[in-house]
Amino acid sequence: MQEDKPIIEISHISKFFGEKTALDNVTLNVKKGEFVTILGPSGCGKTTLLRLIAGFQTASEGIIRISGEDVTLTPPYKRPVNTVFQKYALFPHLNVYDNIAFGMKLKKISRQMIEKKVKAALKMVGMTDYEFRDVDSLSGGQQQRVAIARAIVNEPEVLLLDEPLAALDLKMRKDMQMELKDMHKSLGITFIYVTHDQEEALTLSDTIVVMSEGKIQQIGTPTDIYNEPINSFVADFIGESNILNGMMIRDNLVRICNTEFECVDEGFGENIPVDVVIRPEDLYIFPVSEKAQLIGTVQTSIFKGVHYEMTVLCNRYEIVVQDYHSFEVGTKVGLLVKPFDIHIMKKERICNTFEARILDTNHVEFLGCSFECIPITGLQLDSKIIVEVDFDKVILQDNEEDGILTGEVKFILYKGDHYHLTVLSDWDENVFVDTNDVWDDGDRVGITILPDAIRIVEIID
Ligand code: ATP
Repeated sequence: MQEDKPIIEISHISKFFGEKTALDNVTLNVKKGEFVTILGPSGCGKTTLLRLIAGFQTASEGIIRISGEDVTLTPPYKRPVNTVFQKYALFPHLNVYDNIAFGMKLKKISRQMIEKKVKAALKMVGMTDYEFRDVDSLSGGQQQRVAIARAIVNEPEVLLLDEPLAALDLKMRKDMQMELKDMHKSLGITFIYVTHDQEEALTLSDTIVVMSEGKIQQIGTPTDIYNEPINSFVADFIGESNILNGMMIRDNLVRICNTEFECVDEGFGENIPVDVVIRPEDLYIFPVSEKAQLIGTVQTSIFKGVHYEMTVLCNRYEIVVQDYHSFEVGTKVGLLVKPFDIHIMKKERICNTFEARILDTNHVEFLGCSFECIPITGLQLDSKIIVEVDFDKVILQDNEEDGILTGEVKFILYKGDHYHLTVLSDWDENVFVDTNDVWDDGDRVGITILPDAIRIVEIID
């Protein structure tokens, strides 16, 4: 195989479970020997993607190739991959040696060869001398090493790891991360690693694939993903960020927090709403002086081990700043950020857009419900239309029954002076909401949209 040809080619893969879309048109190439981490929040489809590569599940659409061969319908045992699961899945009645040798014994490999391979695998995971121990007598970390030894003993071309460290305590997890990185280097095989832990992904990977809601959001090196997140979801998911609404006034000039800042971005156009990301470590904080771009008051200051994390209220915006020096709560401070540390992103949307239908002069139907609207004139009943609803015009209610429809809070983004929520309606379509109220991930809510918040913008037929 050519060096630069991908070992895994995932082309336009979708996976549906009934009505549920777990993966939506995912395309990803993995190079031979790469350490690729699939990262995303719970339910984003990471495990499903891994299971499709392993062959435990079959794609609804698309093709998977391994080493150039179409394996979309190939059963797991015929694929050159092996999986390490979060739960070690060791046989409790077998000792360490027999757990690792199990697959090879089934394949009737000679005793000498099995012994040689088991010993090599145990050495690789730092468990020499443990071969005759009961697996029950081992710590979680040791059991996971045995599980890895069992997975690598057959020298697969690709090792799939599904949150393999999630069950370990923090110290053990950190140690094992380093060992996995070393193992990856010395084995020279391709690792595909699933985690929801961004720090783990940044530490381990050559390439990170950030997923959300069944879709790939960004693929890149840890540095790329951290420094140049493609959208506010990625910025928020990877590390601490200030994510603010901004207005690109023209090339190299953006307005945030009612203040104009020089930036290095071009090509967005003039007076275009954008998302702006500034990492807390990229802000300078100092006693108020002329060089301050923003002036504010320290609201909180927490020691984080090496640095202090402070929130500074500037106009009405809360800005998070990290610095080695602490400024006392209540102190007036100046903030400054250099142009290249201001990251500008195109907004994915500037309001909610729904396909709708006119029911009568006072009602339209979308999200599976009838909404009262301001009287419609000059349009035929039953016409298909597009309606828009501003984010801050969607009302969320504690009591589900109070809403016209119901949903669940899926993702919360703090934007300095308000929250931007993604609410998955029970109609299975997202509703985006700007609010000052505090909601939690997973909260069930009623959703109401008042008549004057519904704008008819287009007629489809
Ligand atoms: P987690 O980190 O919580 O394991 P994940 O990112 O690995 O989450 P998946 O397990 O891949 O997510 O699930 C993606 C979506 O598909 C979820 O909404 C899940 O409920 C759904 N799903 C997964 N497997 C099935 C199944 N067998 N039947 C129905 N829905 C499923």
